[in-house]
Amino acid sequence: MNLEELNQRVSAARKETEARGETFYPGPSRIHLAAFPPKERWDDWVELDSRAWPERKERHYMLVPTTCFNCESACGLLAYVDKETLGVQKFEGNPEHPGSRGRNCAKGPATLNQVTDPDRILFPLKRAGRRGEGKWVQVGWDEAMGDIAARIRKAIQEGRHNEVMYHVGRPGEDGFTERILAAWGVDGHNSHTNICSSSARAGYQFWMGLDRPSPDHANARVILLISSHLEAGHYFNPHAQRVMDAKAQGAKLIVFDTRLSHTATHADVWVSPHPGSEAAIMLAVANYLIQNDLYDREFVRRWWNWEEYMAVEHPELETSFEGFETELKKLYAEYTFSYAAKEAGVDARQIEEVARIVSTAGARFSSHNWRSAAAGNSGGWQVARTLFLVNALLGAVATEGGVFPNAWNKFVPKPIYTPPHPPRWNELTWPREYPLAMNELSFLLPHFLKDGRGRVDTYFTRVYNPVWTNPDGFSWIEALQNEDLIGCYVALTPTWNETAYFADYVLPMGHGSERHDIHSYETHDSQWLGFRQPVLRAARERNGELITDTREVNPGEVWEENEFWLELTWRIDPDGSLGIRKFAESQKNPGERLSVDEYYAFIFENSVPGLPERAAEEGLTPLQFMRRYGAFEISAKTGALYEEDVPVEELEDFRVDRFGRVYTRTPKPASPNIVPIPTIDADAEGRRFVGVQVGERIVRGFPTPSGRLEFYSKTLADWGWHEYAIPTYIKSHVHPDNLNPDQHVLISTFRLPVQIHTRSANAKWLDEIAHTNPLWIHPSHARDIKVKTGDAVRVETETGHFVLRAWVTEGIRPGVVACSHHMGRWKLEGGEGQRQLMATVALARDESVWSLKRERGVEPYDSSDPDTARIWWADVGVHQNLTFPVHPDPISGMHCWHQAVRVRRAKEGDRPGDISVDLEKSRSVYRTWLQFTRPADAHSPDGTRRPYWLLRPLKPARDFYRLPAEPEPIKTE
Ligand code: SF4
Repeated sequence: MNLEELNQRVSAARKETEARGETFYPGPSRIHLAAFPPKERWDDWVELDSRAWPERKERHYMLVPTTCFNCESACGLLAYVDKETLGVQKFEGNPEHPGSRGRNCAKGPATLNQVTDPDRILFPLKRAGRRGEGKWVQVGWDEAMGDIAARIRKAIQEGRHNEVMYHVGRPGEDGFTERILAAWGVDGHNSHTNICSSSARAGYQFWMGLDRPSPDHANARVILLISSHLEAGHYFNPHAQRVMDAKAQGAKLIVFDTRLSHTATHADVWVSPHPGSEAAIMLAVANYLIQNDLYDREFVRRWWNWEEYMAVEHPELETSFEGFETELKKLYAEYTFSYAAKEAGVDARQIEEVARIVSTAGARFSSHNWRSAAAGNSGGWQVARTLFLVNALLGAVATEGGVFPNAWNKFVPKPIYTPPHPPRWNELTWPREYPLAMNELSFLLPHFLKDGRGRVDTYFTRVYNPVWTNPDGFSWIEALQNEDLIGCYVALTPTWNETAYFADYVLPMGHGSERHDIHSYETHDSQWLGFRQPVLRAARERNGELITDTREVNPGEVWEENEFWLELTWRIDPDGSLGIRKFAESQKNPGERLSVDEYYAFIFENSVPGLPERAAEEGLTPLQFMRRYGAFEISAKTGALYEEDVPVEELEDFRVDRFGRVYTRTPKPASPNIVPIPTIDADAEGRRFVGVQVGERIVRGFPTPSGRLEFYSKTLADWGWHEYAIPTYIKSHVHPDNLNPDQHVLISTFRLPVQIHTRSANAKWLDEIAHTNPLWIHPSHARDIKVKTGDAVRVETETGHFVLRAWVTEGIRPGVVACSHHMGRWKLEGGEGQRQLMATVALARDESVWSLKRERGVEPYDSSDPDTARIWWADVGVHQNLTFPVHPDPISGMHCWHQAVRVRRAKEGDRPGDISVDLEKSRSVYRTWLQFTRPADAHSPDGTRRPYWLLRPLKPARDFYRLPAEPEPIKTE
């Protein structure tokens, strides 16, 4: 049954239900599936106990919403809390959630496995032996908090603010912890983004000033995905269901993926290009539109910064749109179908077919590139930039079925406190070599520490496992073992991981149903706010209990970060003398610590338009409403905000410059909505940017320096990258020109739809589905090296090798091999770990060469969960990332994941899972890539470290953007 038929059936069911005088499910999911428990019955939902069969035994549940924490999509979940036992029986979708509409992927319900995991960490632990020795003692929260708070207080008092660092993987929240760091006055935020999405972000930000796209897939006529969105893409489940909605309405789906991904199997046109050639194909598509006048001329004329391009690049020519069009045709003429076909190794007719389909989309062209090709290749950010070029040509920007800037489909409410920007700059995370990097150069930290660029006194990781996730993990182990480089390492984590083994403190944090957060993501053209909450706290509060600390309801002494950070802040400055405590203080009860109830009640009452009124309709406070339903839709169909009129009559002393940018002395209006619009530079007389003049109107425009879509990035040109200022093609580090004849490209970035980075090692339902990562290899390649499926192969990188089993498949391009993310998890003999997906290994070091040898695979074991005795899988794959050296893109800062490798039959003695790496070679590759940079010292046009308008998590105060008058030389060992 296709979706159309389903809709017809649902519509018939609706009519029948209403004819009986009953209410059909009316939630914001708008898909009217009667399978959802109506929200009116969430206090007492009855199901039959399947285990009591054939007896019809009723079980009564209280349904409590929360938000899934198992990827970035933040889908709604409903916890079925048994009213008799007050335990969670299962998690299903929340039909009141506008993004996920009651649906989840397999990882959502598997939250139950995480919560009941017999190997999870339940109590605070302190290291008892050497770092990494695996000896721990249980300590109280009080002792741990006292020790950590004292260290941070001392660092702050001694002016060593930059030695405090918080390194986050999956944030799952909107800015709470950044504000805590700002309260401490430290520039200590570090993220995983440069190993994930920085390149795609760069491609989008240089165009539209905001770093993520929000495609309106459901209403598109043509969808072009450069990545495997239907199984693992950015906003996976919310986007996947909307892509399928569009397909059911007849939309065409085009997928670029070197592998035959699940997404590719659903495509009308699947293109399997040579990795890194995607931008060349997009330019050929753009060139077809340009040469054949198939683009939206009026949109380009109004919204591209073509006047700036002509004025700067062609001052000799008269500035006219027609003149620009002539230049545009010249600029892209070389990107013919045959050129792209040669680069990509695909048939020119297929690229032409793509171009023809795209040309039929009009403004209903939705597209997305995330991770994938952008993350794999040096210059990968141009993949996103050239993809969005096609949107910009078609005028498919913030249109129905087009692509929106993410901030317009997202809502970030004003919090109770907004601490000032930190008065300092941390070069360990934002080094001068990378002035345009989208995020922190996080994965270079061990190298910077070894170079002597600084030291970290107190290092937190949260939902992050750099030893396993980052490239060059042995360098992380070396840095973590050295107490001169990292004074105290605190791992905030719900589960054991390869980095936590080297911690001083391991502090147990809650899973998605055991913690508070708010979030809003650009799942479609709307703005919604989701609320994650500890479901047992909410359930017991519904029963009339008063819960003041989430540890009262969580297993063991598992806490949540909100309360943890507030308490730590309180303890760092117990008497308020450092000016920090006030940001963790109750407004209702001065002198007491802020509670999470007050924190969220303030936001929901004061900062979310429409929520107080909606809650009042049901006789609830806004906080009660969010605890009951878990999500609130603020607006739908936000539309083309860039065309919104700026009220000229309210502007004081405004001025329009030669490119139509409008500046005013009118102060910014107070707004509850603090969506992070980048600060555009003021004009020479200090007026602030307020919009652009288009024709006779002054309108909001885009948050770029020009106020328009930046076909021409003057930022790139001014900061030393003139050659890349317009969307163009950069040959990847794995371009055939850069490979030796016996080298192949390894794709290592693809995710599996049923694993959660490093938090699902004991999600038994997921592990049973996917537990290993063989090498995808084409039959022709396999024949050449004489291997068949199941044989062990050795893959050699620049710094070492790993061993794994082969999977011979036609689902991969000949000459390219692939190995998935998620697998190769490990624990040490006798040490802690998640036993359902972690092999037992031995680590050894011989001078600069590190090795990891698998001692044993996974085995059945006895635990509180009888299913652990039924484990039937043993091979859990290989930790390939250990063998990848760092490859920082000199512009975006993104680690370029693709590897040039040699693939051979395994040697005698090789066993799947084995790894060897020479860290001297890692250092050498690091130094080589550093040479590709153009540091701010030499290339900054204005004496600053970084363009102020570019987004940056936790921006320092503006004065600290300035380079020192005499900067210290950059240290490299
Ligand atoms: S896509 Fe799956 S893992 Fe991600 S938030 Fe939704 S249900 Fe959870």
